[in-house]
Amino acid sequence: SKPLLDVQNLSVRFPVKRGGMFGGKSWLYAVDDISFTVPKGETLAIVGESGSGKTTAALACARLVSAYQGKVQLGDHDFLTLKDEALRQARARVQIIFQDPYASLNPRLRSEAIVREPIDSLETAPPSERQKIVDDLFKSVGLRPEQQRLFPHQFSGGQRQRIGIARALATSPDLIICDEPVSALDVAVQAQILNLLRKLQKDLGLTYLFISHDLGVVQHMADSIAVMYMGKIVEQADRLSLFNNPLHPYTSALLSAVPSVDRKRREQQKRILIPGDPPDPINPPKGCRFANRCPVAKDMCLNSPPPLRELKGGHKVACHLVGDDAKSPL
Ligand code: SF4
Repeated sequence: SKPLLDVQNLSVRFPVKRGGMFGGKSWLYAVDDISFTVPKGETLAIVGESGSGKTTAALACARLVSAYQGKVQLGDHDFLTLKDEALRQARARVQIIFQDPYASLNPRLRSEAIVREPIDSLETAPPSERQKIVDDLFKSVGLRPEQQRLFPHQFSGGQRQRIGIARALATSPDLIICDEPVSALDVAVQAQILNLLRKLQKDLGLTYLFISHDLGVVQHMADSIAVMYMGKIVEQADRLSLFNNPLHPYTSALLSAVPSVDRKRREQQKRILIPGDPPDPINPPKGCRFANRCPVAKDMCLNSPPPLRELKGGHKVACHLVGDDAKSPL
């Protein structure tokens, strides 16, 4: 069936000033020609380090940063081309849960007003029904009715994220972008919030685009996973294929830092360290962008960029050394 979210050839670039006498404008391609789809009711996680472009890609899907190129199909909407009233209506269908619930909640508003605000501004329900919606939202995220009167600073970090989730649900969206929703929280609280997100997904049929730097978090949340490095998707697969058979050396290195759930595997697990830093994003290398850090790089890796190829089972990888047999070069 048709995916809820279908992103094709998305690029986002930012102007950067060059210093010096001959300094002019250059472009940093934070997201460089990526494509992915998310079926309705499922979770796609985009994983990468800071600077990989994962958050920028997600924000471009919500039109919070503008895309330079590409197409974002959201249900029946060609989302990036919508205007005016059509855009306002479509905006209600995509909401975001931010990383830091404290920074994203207006400290001067009571939590009730915070949750209600998107309903008022996008007019997704008649005024007479709005309070009932807010009451139900508080209940469904596990907050008590009397807590509606409180301000953000009167809640714990986990409770604040519950308010952020209630707010994101207020317009009955189809797609929720979860931008590192638990990385500011204690580990014990992380599990509660992830459980809540999973329950809401099941109850409401939500589709998640889940942004994280942490494959450990993602392994309990995602149906499929895309790994980004320097603006590109370097590997994408369903969760089991990615965790059981990582093909890109960068993915293998990221996974080696996540304790395996399988005891045998955990005992054999060796940490793969990636030396060095990513190269200058304004002047990306002409070959594979991972080549200067890759433990198995060959000459050809420096000269030509590996395309993202689809192998059997839909596992996609961008590495010259992975053949059709889907064996990791590491
Ligand atoms: Fe490493 Fe070459 Fe594969 Fe890039 S293409 S990940 S440098 S082996």
